Amino acid sequence: MTDINTLFSKTAVSLVKEHLTPAIFNDLKEKRTKNKFTLEQAIRSGIQNPDSSIGIYAGDAESYQTFSKIFKPVIKAYHGCPADRIHRSDLSRIALSGSDLSCGHIQSFRIRVARNLADLPFPPLIDSAARIKVEEQTVNALLELKGDLEGSYHPLGELTDARRKRFAQKHLLFEKGDRFMEAAGINRDWPDSRGIFVSKDEKFAVWINEEDHLRIISMDSGGDIMGTYDRLSRALAFLEKRLTFARDPNLGYLTSCPSNLGTGMRAGVHIRLPNFLSQQALLHATAEEYNLQIRGSHGEKTEVLDGIVDVSNRQRLGITEKQCIETLHRGLSAIIKITR
Ligand code: ADP
Ligand code: MG
Repeated sequence: MTDINTLFSKTAVSLVKEHLTPAIFNDLKEKRTKNKFTLEQAIRSGIQNPDSSIGIYAGDAESYQTFSKIFKPVIKAYHGCPADRIHRSDLSRIALSGSDLSCGHIQSFRIRVARNLADLPFPPLIDSAARIKVEEQTVNALLELKGDLEGSYHPLGELTDARRKRFAQKHLLFEKGDRFMEAAGINRDWPDSRGIFVSKDEKFAVWINEEDHLRIISMDSGGDIMGTYDRLSRALAFLEKRLTFARDPNLGYLTSCPSNLGTGMRAGVHIRLPNFLSQQALLHATAEEYNLQIRGSHGEKTEVLDGIVDVSNRQRLGITEKQCIETLHRGLSAIIKITR
């Protein structure tokens, strides 16, 4: 890797391209973390995919320090808050009131948080031995869950067709990552040590060794925001006692993609907006006002099918978990009002 001017395609629009100045590039290009993660590896996805919106991944917790000169401006641009303030977490109870989300258009509500185990490389860098450790430690902890969180673990490589279909229908399945994750190195050794833990009622799930070591997910078909949030916070309280997650006082929970730093939380609904196409501009503007994102029906970078969109929070750093859900609730109320 030599000349920064020829690194990125002319059409590339990523935050990493925007902020990687020749001076920062020269300063960082020979640096390595203790696990030997390099700048070249960190930005490979952004280089290979000119349509990346961020374009940089962390290979381990230390990446955020070693390459802080590029991560900091990218983090500030994405989350809209500086990367050097103390990040606060607040998973205390929520009482939502005032507005009604029971418009009949909400198909499902989902909250997930991203977590990585401290001291092991993150998915862009991890090797098979460490991936096995992640799977073992996590599954051992998850199998101790009781009550409504009790469930079973399903390695991806051993899923029967019937179960795969069921998980897909219930939005519980994850597949091999897209070209962004491929270029970042996240798909290596697929599907080894990948799997899904699911509670009996299928409202709680954990994805193991996807984009992060853990994606902890709480879901509800319908708009029960408080119940979904409560289930997630109970699971997190339990897992925090059993596992040690990578965390930083300023950056919060450390994740492969800097967009997930902070709470690691993406909370959102699949909602049917029958007039989505005709009201697109107004809906996007309203979402923006509440720092929400409107995505396609099947997640990031997918199409809108049948008027069903995914509305969720964009910011995860500099906002607590509780504030995230409260803001989502207010934003959704505003969006629903428009479509009524
Ligand atoms: P993440 O932010 O968790 O990486 P993705 O956009 O990659 O989310 O989507 C992951 C999966 O979760 C997809 O299969 C998507 O359909 C599903 N999903 C996302 N939001 C919801 C929701 N509100 N209800 C049901 N499924 C959802
Ligand atoms: Mg994803």
